Amino acid sequence: MKIFTFKGGIHPPYEKDISISEPLREVPRPKISVVLLSQHIGAANKSIVNKGDIVEEGQRIGESDSFVSSPVHAPFAGKILDIKKAIHPAVGPGMSVFIETDPEKQKKQYEEKVPSKLTPQEIIEKVKSAGIVGMGGAAFPTHVKLSVPEEKKIKTLIINGAECEPYLTCDQSLMTRKTREILKGLELFMEVLHPEEIVIAIEDNKKAALFAFEKELKKISAESATKIRIIMLETKYPQGGEKQLIKAVSGKEVPPGGLPLDIGFLVQNIGTLYAVYEAVYKGKPLIERIVTISGDCLRRPGNYKIRVGTTVKDIIENAGIELYKDPKKILFGGPMMGFAQAQIEVPVLKSTAGILFLSEDKASVFEETPCIKCAKCVDVCPVRLIPTDIMKNVKKKKWENVESLHVSDCMECGACNYSCPARIPLVHYIKEGKAAIAKR
Ligand code: SF4
Ligand code: SF4
Repeated sequence: MKIFTFKGGIHPPYEKDISISEPLREVPRPKISVVLLSQHIGAANKSIVNKGDIVEEGQRIGESDSFVSSPVHAPFAGKILDIKKAIHPAVGPGMSVFIETDPEKQKKQYEEKVPSKLTPQEIIEKVKSAGIVGMGGAAFPTHVKLSVPEEKKIKTLIINGAECEPYLTCDQSLMTRKTREILKGLELFMEVLHPEEIVIAIEDNKKAALFAFEKELKKISAESATKIRIIMLETKYPQGGEKQLIKAVSGKEVPPGGLPLDIGFLVQNIGTLYAVYEAVYKGKPLIERIVTISGDCLRRPGNYKIRVGTTVKDIIENAGIELYKDPKKILFGGPMMGFAQAQIEVPVLKSTAGILFLSEDKASVFEETPCIKCAKCVDVCPVRLIPTDIMKNVKKKKWENVESLHVSDCMECGACNYSCPARIPLVHYIKEGKAAIAKR
């Protein structure tokens, strides 16, 4: 089978076996659920509940009139204790609804019901109403992504099964356990977007997922199946980046500052397809997701079904993950692009793919030494930047040079950091450069 890839990238230790071989478990109901009102890219939501209100599971609690926004829902039935700011490492401080969950109320059961024939607009409305956002990390509202302007045409819809971040296996877990449901979500996307072809792209370290899709494809309508191609990607970081994926699949490049849509592509994450299936077939809003809990500090790593709003503290205390080493770093997301956090009272968001507990051995901070001009950072950069030159110009505060080195095209993937033998935190300098340019 042909293996597809892009130029550049790195091969870090993947550490996926730690979590993928474990059964899917569930984190029990916390006493208090902390739901950030805005968990998406776009206009901020406002609370539509008040302190003291009683809410039902799945009830909408925050929304905005803006089209580019996404509502949030109560993950559990309970009483609104407070509405106040809470800190979050991934999205910064944000207004949050604190719900005292009701232990007497069982979790709702969401049964699958085949929906009557829906128009594209009705599908988009259901996706919007269920608060679905991109679950691969960006959290862009999915209904906006589905609302393609009339003059644009989606030629290729790519389903992103790369999951290239080390440690994370939540998508892999979904692809092997919920293959049929993901394909149902995909068919809904096809109803709305009418792409000419669909490519399900999976890294070659996830062969079980590839076989699962091949098997399930035989069961869907011939009309849909003939448009769908499954391809294998080289296991390489950052293979799952939108632009890298398009390059690997088609050889085409998204122009700098442009969108995949500009060249007829749309990329969709596995978890998002599953959430769309749950919204349309089960009427379930996005209040729960699979999160990889992993690292070298815990005894029960694995993939866990976790309700949005459950804090890291509650996961540690209630899920029996047993921390037997003190973590040096707790990360939201993977080790390459994740966000470190200093406290454990932070909740799971719709976009939280993983929470990692890493010891000193895995999360050491090295001292920066002088650049040895080896050009390794240049070789690995997937967008062909010159990180070493950007770093040198940032240090000299030569912002015009930094801009002309196309710092804004950097996707902050961290591949240059990882490969630098001088341990220079190149992404740190790149972020500093971007911030300085934005202020000019
Ligand atoms: S310069 Fe940016 S895009 Fe290139 S490797 Fe470094 S972090 Fe990734
Ligand atoms: S990888 Fe590090 S040491 Fe090598 S050129 Fe880049 S910045 Fe310099």
